[in-house]
Amino acid sequence: MEITPSNQKPAPQFNYWFDPTIASIGKSGLEFLHLLTGPTHLHLSGRDRSRCRAIVTLLHGNEPSGLYAIFELLRQQIKPAVDIHFFIPSVEAAQAPPGFFYRMLPAHKDLNRCFRAPFDNSGQDQLAALLLSRLQALKPEAVIDVHNTSGSGPSFGVTTFLDDRHEALVSFFTHRMIVTDMRLGALMEISDSLMPTVTIECGGAQEKESNLMAYEGIQKYVEADNVLSAAHNDFPLEFFHNPIRLETRPDIRIGFSEQTHPEYDITLLPDLDNHNFGHVEESTLLGFVKGDLADYFTARDSQGEDRLAEFFHTVNGEFRPTRRLKLFMITTNPVIANQDCLFYMVAT
Ligand SMILES: [Zn+2]
Repeated sequence: MEITPSNQKPAPQFNYWFDPTIASIGKSGLEFLHLLTGPTHLHLSGRDRSRCRAIVTLLHGNEPSGLYAIFELLRQQIKPAVDIHFFIPSVEAAQAPPGFFYRMLPAHKDLNRCFRAPFDNSGQDQLAALLLSRLQALKPEAVIDVHNTSGSGPSFGVTTFLDDRHEALVSFFTHRMIVTDMRLGALMEISDSLMPTVTIECGGAQEKESNLMAYEGIQKYVEADNVLSAAHNDFPLEFFHNPIRLETRPDIRIGFSEQTHPEYDITLLPDLDNHNFGHVEESTLLGFVKGDLADYFTARDSQGEDRLAEFFHTVNGEFRPTRRLKLFMITTNPVIANQDCLFYMVAT
């Protein structure tokens, strides 16, 4: 028997589940979540067993649309065209009360920033490395990584690699596609070296349409004979190249309110996410900032250069763009704004 030293956590594993019966999956997506006992690798056999595809979801525990879609697919007893491997990593974070609340558990690393060497001893790096080794062994034709945005807004795809295969994958879900050179350690970055992989952001985690969009996209992806060549959308894709990330500096106090607030260094308007994929102009008020913007924000482009002063300024404490911009992936959650970024943007 292998003994694990008491000061070392056991290495994470994926629980393997092959062709679940309808009786074994529970009566709802939530029940399904609570039947899982840790990171899960769910394997569905397809009509052509010689090929396979992968879907990853719940890298972030507060983004339920992908899991609901998998439950629905199992409930509808959809027979895939090829074998499908679902990887569901952050089960523990998703299950933690009140449920689908934690992006990651407190003190854990963001799992979708861990997909690059070197891998440390943290559970998240180990799980990311394990997922990569599973994908390398299985050699799926493609990988779809299904997420939700934390603010409300429409769906979009993200890729670090632009070609017909990636366009085809995104077009199962949406017609908006972000193409970025930025490397943060996200799963989709394996496209560079391993297999076509795209991120799908299904829209807000609280919105019912996001679940429907995830289900319809995944259903088409698993049922299609060929997923890498033909575009599957009637609309042409709209591209957004190399967005800039507006990040806050560490330990800044961020709040959302209609008026400037003494407790916050940065006060943002509560309906900021209404601008998702819309335009903001010089005249658009985004919020209020005390003092110098550069003390609070960075706006890095894909080359790592800070472009803050080019795109934003304050006028009497009011935080505004300097020019017409398109914003997306806007969060109205101060914790995510602080830990990840407030929004992405491109100049238009
Ligand atoms: Zn996510």
